[in-house]
Amino acid sequence: MSLVGIGYDSHRLAAGRRLVIGGVEIPHERGLDGHSDADVLAHAVIDALLGAAGLGDIGAHFPDTDEHWRDADSIQLLEAVVDMLAAEGLAIVNVDCTVLMEAPKLAPHRQAIRERLAQALDLDIARVNVKASTGEGIGFVGRGEGVAALAVAGLCRGG
Ligand code: MG
Repeated sequence: MSLVGIGYDSHRLAAGRRLVIGGVEIPHERGLDGHSDADVLAHAVIDALLGAAGLGDIGAHFPDTDEHWRDADSIQLLEAVVDMLAAEGLAIVNVDCTVLMEAPKLAPHRQAIRERLAQALDLDIARVNVKASTGEGIGFVGRGEGVAALAVAGLCRGG
């Protein structure tokens, strides 16, 4: 049996914050604002995995009202979700995602992000794809107000 899930997230860009995308810190004058490290890509991947497994969403498992998750490393949350799936007897087949960001360019960091996500997901890097797109100057992404991420995850039951 195969299962598929989608994930979406967005965070505001703010001064004095780190820009962490898929567990990789990218040098930039602004970063993503949020309760945790605001890793928009990790959050989208988490929701895709939870969605495929029928386990709700990130807010249900890691509420932003909980001080325990303040400035949390979202890769650790992702690893906790990977463990949840294993406990359900579910294996991850692949993850595909798109980061929507006007600046800086994601391309120089794409391979590092793939490697970091593949490591957290315990997947071969060939099963983890990371794409990037800009907002073409339109909307909150295009105006550089925030960053969004989309993810799809495929799961199967058993090995
Ligand atoms: Mg988020």
